[in-house]
Amino acid sequence: AAELTEAVIKQALSEAYQKYRTLDEGKNADYIPALAKVDSDIYGIVLVTTDGKVYTQGDIKSEVSIQSISKVFTMALVMDQDGTQELVENMGVDATGQVFNSIVAIEQYQGAEMNPLVNAGAITTTSLVDGKDYEEIWGKIAREYDEFAGRELTVLEDVYKSEAATNQRNRAIASLMHAYGHIDDNFLRATDIYTRQCSVGVNARDLGIMAATLANAGKNPVTDQQVTSAKNVPEILAVMATAGLYDDAGKWLYKTGLPAKSGVGGGIIAVSPGKFGIAVISPPLDAAGNSVRAQKAIADISNALGGNPYDVS
Ligand code: GLU
Repeated sequence: AAELTEAVIKQALSEAYQKYRTLDEGKNADYIPALAKVDSDIYGIVLVTTDGKVYTQGDIKSEVSIQSISKVFTMALVMDQDGTQELVENMGVDATGQVFNSIVAIEQYQGAEMNPLVNAGAITTTSLVDGKDYEEIWGKIAREYDEFAGRELTVLEDVYKSEAATNQRNRAIASLMHAYGHIDDNFLRATDIYTRQCSVGVNARDLGIMAATLANAGKNPVTDQQVTSAKNVPEILAVMATAGLYDDAGKWLYKTGLPAKSGVGGGIIAVSPGKFGIAVISPPLDAAGNSVRAQKAIADISNALGGNPYDVS
């Protein structure tokens, strides 16, 4: 495998950036109206090593909504609160083989065979965060994300409002998870907090540092803060590997070996354990809902840097 020198990393980022800069495939998500309006040309790449060096290419300032990538960090919060078994026992950790907001998948096993990275499991995970009221629960979630990113993030209110007005399907999912006993009476509050967490604004640098914190056993390599317990990380990465890229999680793992998570805002994070975290933002998505440029750029960079944890040649 290539040695991870500064020159090698810089070259890998620069090549991938140039190669896909003019690629014109995919389109922004539009089932949440505000996402259709996001600039499709935003394109930024950030790689952060476990010793805290930050490498960047392109637009690392523009923020998009974190969307489903948030599910990873709420999962970490609940694991710190309740241990790693609570999620397994409540909604499971298996890939559903269905779309991320599938109702059929809930029905098949009455909500017991989901995972924290699909909507039913993610809303359930959010509902498990302890707190006396909305504010206290939201405060804990926001602080967790801030610590992963190493700065104070804010909610993109236009995205939040847009999704809150159109998230009837997620409310239905939460109602079903409540009906089957996975979420308590506050299922609509949990859906709203989940919608808020999906609307947190992040740039590529934030996501790169969040990914690197997972690559570094839960310790943010830039701030040196232990954000989540090191023992949670293998389990978080396992679910990212099996369910991080929607219906294409298997294809992605086959190609890169990297636990990863995408969001419909156009971001993808990927983790090479012990080595680096990488993130790319580019809003146009393929049919499975994954950013087209982000998948290509991350795969190229990781392959150039020997990032695949299964490849020891
Ligand atoms: N807030 C979005 C939803 O619940 C997140 C979807 C995603 O990024 O996969 O539909």
